[in-house]
Amino acid sequence: MSIASKEERLKRYAEQGWKEQLSQYVNTLERLKEFINVTPEEEEAIETLHTKWGTTPYYAALMDPDNPECPIRRQVVPCVKEKENSYGMEDYLIYKENRATGEKRPDSIARQYTDRIAFTITDVCANYCRHCFRKEVVLDQKLELRFDIDEGFEWIREHTEIRDVLVTGGDPFMLTDDKIEHVITKLREIPHVEMIRIGTRTPIVMPQRIDEGLKKVLGGYHDVPIWINTQCNHPREITEYTSRAVYDLLSCGVNVGNQAVLLKGINDDVETFRELHQKLLRVRIRPYYVFYCEAAPGIDHFRTTVEKGAELIRDALRGHTTGLAQPMYVIATNIGKIPLMPDYYIVDKNEKEYTLRNYKGETTTLPNIT
Ligand code: SF4
Repeated sequence: MSIASKEERLKRYAEQGWKEQLSQYVNTLERLKEFINVTPEEEEAIETLHTKWGTTPYYAALMDPDNPECPIRRQVVPCVKEKENSYGMEDYLIYKENRATGEKRPDSIARQYTDRIAFTITDVCANYCRHCFRKEVVLDQKLELRFDIDEGFEWIREHTEIRDVLVTGGDPFMLTDDKIEHVITKLREIPHVEMIRIGTRTPIVMPQRIDEGLKKVLGGYHDVPIWINTQCNHPREITEYTSRAVYDLLSCGVNVGNQAVLLKGINDDVETFRELHQKLLRVRIRPYYVFYCEAAPGIDHFRTTVEKGAELIRDALRGHTTGLAQPMYVIATNIGKIPLMPDYYIVDKNEKEYTLRNYKGETTTLPNIT
């Protein structure tokens, strides 16, 4: 397909409503073949893995039809390597979300901190990302949890120490406007909830979701603000349609951040990593976190070394581009997020002074104030 016709197709899909996107969902081999030349390995994975997969026609249209290593394609199409599991932990979510600890909580509430929780309201997504750390619930559905929204409201109401609620999934923006409005209204009625965060990939995989109806639900001045974090992992995922969706969210008073996942062969090289963070700022998305790809089962092939993220911050971002484009590199664990930053800054320290190094390897000194 020529570049012009590829762009025309993308435009056509981008102009459809989100419900139309879902009615033309790409989750059969036949349908996938309308977008890419499926390899025998991809076909085998689709036929033998018992996993949920699929994406929107809009996101599928961003895939390279001929290159199986395409960074978007690898996030969409199942891979036989998902059958291998040398390093991932079975029942990862039980460990990660502290589901086997003494505290009694509804399945919809995950907790690692005192004042904030993750509130899961759906297990449905617009794109079933192959690297998803919640895959046991969302993709493979081996871990059956009950996401009862009312139980969640009740628990949050009873726990007055909770001031910050992350509404998550699945993807919360897969729910209808009415349901999203219900969740936001109920949370805003709880006096100790000071802010609502929503995790959604829709600005990236289905930007049409940010439509007039949703803007009405999210917009207006409120004491309890909404912050949105999306997940964009490669610069090619950012289009003029992403830009419009983000602008619309900002116009509603909603800030948009990015939580990328460090993915081997997708964004773990200096050039891509820098371009991703620069391009995010160009569409007004603030880089917030880069996550180490978590120890969920069946995603070994996406995982880099732990140090890789800190090295990329050192080599691609720090000093090389604006401070606004600097995310925090973190490893998410059962005891919370652990930041890992480059460790080269302090070269030496004595009673009199510190010796500090910059991104170019130059050094300088600063008095040591005891
Ligand atoms: S959108 Fe989020 S929850 Fe859904 S599959 Fe992707 S990473 Fe997992």
